[in-house]
Amino acid sequence: MPYWILIIGFLSFSSLSESESPVRFTKDDLLGKFEANAHPDFSKVPDRFASHSGHYLRTEVVDSLVKMCKHAARDGVSLEVVSAYRSYYRQKTIWNNKYNRFSGSSQEKVAQILEYSSMPGTSRHHWGTDFDLNTVEPSYFDTPQGKAMYEWLVKHAADYGFFQPYQAFNNWRDDGYFEEKWHWSFRPTAEKIRLAYQYSITYDDISGFLGSELAESFDVIERYVRCIEL
Ligand SMILES: [Zn+2]
Repeated sequence: MPYWILIIGFLSFSSLSESESPVRFTKDDLLGKFEANAHPDFSKVPDRFASHSGHYLRTEVVDSLVKMCKHAARDGVSLEVVSAYRSYYRQKTIWNNKYNRFSGSSQEKVAQILEYSSMPGTSRHHWGTDFDLNTVEPSYFDTPQGKAMYEWLVKHAADYGFFQPYQAFNNWRDDGYFEEKWHWSFRPTAEKIRLAYQYSITYDDISGFLGSELAESFDVIERYVRCIEL
């Protein structure tokens, strides 16, 4: 076979495979079992838009977030990331601390923690697409400052690809976490990750923390991950 046929064949194969290869997420990507500062797809949130240095998100999410924060600042609204990527191991510490602090049966403890906190391995904070802005204190959103910030986000966040996954319960969402006005998500990447999660993760993967044996009976994958329609 002449060389030029081989070369053309190789070029068309490589360009095809590159353009058509889907973005791949490993199980560790989906479960937060990695360090974000060593992950090639992650970048640091600039310090001036963060409560402290060292918050990481996927690079495209940081890019869009920075644009949104600058626009908000021009409108007199200050946006600051207080929580971004959180690993499985960090979530496990948060979860186990709450589990040890709360009283009641293991069922009651898990139900209480799940009002606001995720089981390790099921948090959208593992994905690098989701972050909390300004505070995780619900009463802040009753203050004039909190109301102004939330109103600004409702009006403009979608222009930057962001949405609020945990809205007040309504006809489309009547289960799962309580409303979180501080928690925002980058829809284009989160949609891909949620689909990958749905196909790859089973209850065998949700393990290794206090009360994890209850994950399946609480139906956490359906109620807290899959049910967030984008
Ligand atoms: Zn959050």
